[in-house]
Amino acid sequence: MLNSSLFPEMIEAPKPRPEGPFAKVAIERSLDRTLDYSIPRPFIHALRVGQRVRVPLGRRNKPAYGYVISIHDDCDFPTIKPIMAIDDERVLVTPGLMELSRWIGRYYCTPLGTVIESVVPSAVKKRIGLDYVSAVRLAQPREQMQSVLEKTKAPKRRAILARLLLLEPDHSIDLVRLANEAGATAPTIRKLARLGLITITLEADFEALNTLSENLGTGRGPESIELPLNEDQQLAFDELHSRLESGFSVNLLHGVTGSGKTEVYLRCIKAVVETGRQAIVLVPEIALTPQTVQRFTARFERVAILHSGLSASQRHRYWQQIWTGKADVVVGARSAVFAPLPNLGMIVVDEEHEASYKQDSAPRYHARDVAIKRAQIESIPVLLGSATPSLETYWRVQRQTPATQSPEVAQPKQYHLLTLPNRVRGLKMPEVELIDLKQEMRMRRGVHLLSQRLEHLLKATVAEGHQAILLLNRRGYSNFVYCPSCTNVISCKYCDATMTYHRSAGVKARGGSNEEGVHTGQLHCHYCLAVNPLPEKCPDCGKKLSLFGLGTQRVEEELAKKFPDLKFARVDSDTMHHARDYEALLGRFARGEVQVMLGTQMIAKGLDYPNVTLVGVISGDTALSLPDFRAAERTFQLITQVAGRAGRGDAPGRVVLQTFMPKDPTILSAIRQDFTGFATSELLSRQQVGLPPITRMVRVILRDQEEAKLHTLSQNLAATLAEAIAKHGGAVTMKGPMPCAINRIAGYNRAQILLNSPSAARLQDVLLRVRKAGGFATSDRIAVDVDPVSLL
Ligand code: ADP
Ligand code: ZN
Repeated sequence: MLNSSLFPEMIEAPKPRPEGPFAKVAIERSLDRTLDYSIPRPFIHALRVGQRVRVPLGRRNKPAYGYVISIHDDCDFPTIKPIMAIDDERVLVTPGLMELSRWIGRYYCTPLGTVIESVVPSAVKKRIGLDYVSAVRLAQPREQMQSVLEKTKAPKRRAILARLLLLEPDHSIDLVRLANEAGATAPTIRKLARLGLITITLEADFEALNTLSENLGTGRGPESIELPLNEDQQLAFDELHSRLESGFSVNLLHGVTGSGKTEVYLRCIKAVVETGRQAIVLVPEIALTPQTVQRFTARFERVAILHSGLSASQRHRYWQQIWTGKADVVVGARSAVFAPLPNLGMIVVDEEHEASYKQDSAPRYHARDVAIKRAQIESIPVLLGSATPSLETYWRVQRQTPATQSPEVAQPKQYHLLTLPNRVRGLKMPEVELIDLKQEMRMRRGVHLLSQRLEHLLKATVAEGHQAILLLNRRGYSNFVYCPSCTNVISCKYCDATMTYHRSAGVKARGGSNEEGVHTGQLHCHYCLAVNPLPEKCPDCGKKLSLFGLGTQRVEEELAKKFPDLKFARVDSDTMHHARDYEALLGRFARGEVQVMLGTQMIAKGLDYPNVTLVGVISGDTALSLPDFRAAERTFQLITQVAGRAGRGDAPGRVVLQTFMPKDPTILSAIRQDFTGFATSELLSRQQVGLPPITRMVRVILRDQEEAKLHTLSQNLAATLAEAIAKHGGAVTMKGPMPCAINRIAGYNRAQILLNSPSAARLQDVLLRVRKAGGFATSDRIAVDVDPVSLL
């Protein structure tokens, strides 16, 4: 036994238990647990749940930031550190958003601190664009100050004190304003502070942020006129209107392209705003064009538009306006689902099938599903709109999946289907023609990406003064660089992917290189973004290389050759670096300065230009062969959406669909524009093989630069998962570890494990067990993707 007197420090008297209240704090970055802190006396009345605070972390008490998630009187820990500071007096995470964040953390298997980092924009957190004012207050009680004033002779000092005595109790006044109103100078005021009569503190000027931003309230214009609803729209609106005040519901507005869905959204939002509440409209980022934006700003006075082109200080301003209830409508991409509106009345999710609603970094949330959860928490309706609903939504509407099967969604009868089966003003759906590319190849010499029929229609369309859209869902010039003599295909050094050839910037398509000519350009990897020069000869055998396959650049070249006078523009992420490039181009297209737009899926969505009568799909099957079970669904959506751009004005629309697979059932239903037929047969095959939406899926992606380490990591995790799964006796199945479809990206080897179950609750339970045991702790090497939208 130790002689305690020799070791006095070891017999410390038991510390008095720390006094409450305590705050539970979720630390920013990926610490997967919350920590308790004591609340120093000066903060006790100021501290609120949802505030950002600075706390000591770790043995060295390094300052870290986190959010207060609860305040309570008891604490189980004997020693506890105090909160260092309240970083922002505002409640950045409102109570409803806090509940939502907790759900996201649980459901998407993400630390709460990481979730909140997505909920609170970083511009808000960093207080960007916020001005500070010097707030002046009386330092002593009013009666005392009154007598000080009476004894003061100097007129400037008297004026200052008199003005301060006019303030309401506890109020302050900005130093500059005080100086003005009292006819004094700042040094005179500061002198009083040194005498202990007043205090001057630097405070954030939130009021200044509240002055309206540029986009708010542009109001009026031709778009502001309310269109009389047609019969179908009226039916849909009446039904929705009846649900605006009756709590949570999920409504799918399935309307063909050009059926006037937006008009129905606008009416519902108007009804919401008239009752003093606010609405959120989610749109895919690419749909945030002036066209969409105008439809909302013209109808409503106070609209906040959130898109990726905003500066940090604009973002902060909008956030502040939203938070203080000064915006009635928020239109924005994915993260707008977290807009902190004080009295939310409805959420609209336009193009709800869009895969871009899924965030591909932690938290890997799906904005549509988060919108549904938020609507449930706030007891309001959510309206999902699409011409091609996701099979997830369609299935839920058909089946009314009970709550036990899908925690983020509803009780039976909370899903409702509304349909707009026809285009507005009696306009016809465009006619779709199929072109068999195999036959076309046999008939013509040389390489032609535009079939004779498409060429002919393009010529006729332009001659009539109409416009056309050509879709090819692949960037670059060719998707293979291939050596015909040794069959070597040039692939990326860091990824298991072939390199795509891109022409050099500045090399004109007109009269440029062709199959036989000299190629000046570079090889791009679309996965890790590596860029290499195109080798002159095959690196393996030294023979001449060929370019294979097709991309938008190659179509551009062919168009330039075949239609030398055509005014056309290529639209893809290589040519459109900023949202404003795209906006400028759409402006030129609207004014008719551009006759044909050629592009990737960017141009497939949401555009409403009445003069477009022709849509050409260069290759209808580019997406069909992707190793992803949603390949058919994506193909159907893409073709239907782009076809929907044609014939939105008085002249009828026409669509040419070129394909190597003219008998493929997906292509055939796309031609008939038969969503119900496609969905029914696709759901049946998903059911037969047990895939979402009939089952739920979780994808775990593991990565490591070293093959052997990846192997160990994935084997260990698989064993942990298997153990957790065993408790559910077959209700959850596991596949893998196995290589990903793209085995290596950016030098990292990748493996995946797929979990599948008819019951989301069981899957959640498995994840929770493994998470609690620290199985996902190496978050830089393990990513958990719940309800993945892509399996590449
Ligand atoms: P969707 O979103 O279903 O593709 P939109 O809402 O973009 O369709 O509507 C297509 C076009 O029809 C728009 O130009 C819109 O102004 C117009 N429109 C909508 N409703 C009506 C209506 N009731 N009468 C006439 N035109 C309408
Ligand atoms: Zn690469």
